[in-house]
Amino acid sequence: MIVTSVDEAQSELARLFSQSQRAVGFTGAGISTECGIPDFRSPNSPWMKHKPIDFSLFVADPLAREEAWRRKFAMDDIYAGAGPGRGHRAFARLVSSGKMGAIVTQNIDGLHQAAGAPADRVIELHGNGTYAKCLRCEQRYELPDVRAEFERTGAAPQCACGGAIKSATVSFGQAMPEQAMRKAREETELCDLFLAVGSSLVVYPAAGFPVIAKRNGAILAIVNRDETALDDAADVVLRGDIGDILAPFASS
Ligand code: NAD
Repeated sequence: MIVTSVDEAQSELARLFSQSQRAVGFTGAGISTECGIPDFRSPNSPWMKHKPIDFSLFVADPLAREEAWRRKFAMDDIYAGAGPGRGHRAFARLVSSGKMGAIVTQNIDGLHQAAGAPADRVIELHGNGTYAKCLRCEQRYELPDVRAEFERTGAAPQCACGGAIKSATVSFGQAMPEQAMRKAREETELCDLFLAVGSSLVVYPAAGFPVIAKRNGAILAIVNRDETALDDAADVVLRGDIGDILAPFASS
């Protein structure tokens, strides 16, 4: 079923949640566009401006690391002040009311936590771009410190242990975080409603979770402005603006 009116989409979501005992929310870049952070695949995406720096190149080449940090700080200057939107607030409320067991997100912006979702209920499949980590000893570093050091020396930052410091995101070619993948799978297998919001559902292995949920007997519902790769597999597709559709859940 495809629903294109906001009112009907809101009623359908309310009905789905009233029948669900345990939902999983799954999010992509589209939930953060109303916060001023562009998504990946919509036209003129700033994320597509440069060819991504593959993880193996980051590890092997100090010049690639310097370039990665220059790009990171340039993007942060534009988006770091972004705050949560209606979709993030709706999901945080659904978690606190017990309706949503977990939020599985592909996003790296930390906005689910900023909206009040407890960190242990937010499963970040692609890491978090609001801090950095040593690739060798996993020591956490805060970005303002990393930036100050980078600007002082001009060199890619290094940990005291000698390891390279990298934004705590998962780069192209980097292994997926095992614990997050395991938790996401457990939550997906337990849910009776899987709500995918703001994702084109083409990035794997993340896009495998809606497929697992559906195979496991959960209702698969998708909220997105454009068609997604899994619309045909979904029970319900709510096509429209995420903030508009989720607004009642953010404030009720
Ligand atoms: P995507 O760009 O492939 O798809 C986003 C989808 O959201 C699009 O289909 C678009 O139609 C929809 N959309 C955008 N704004 C919307 C709105 N206001 N209402 C309804 N729909 C809207 O994003 P993806 O599937 O998440 O994959 C991109 C990858 O890039 C992910 O791995 C993610 O980690 C990363 N990324 C993250 C951020 C972030 O953290 N905010 C931003 C850009 C990219």
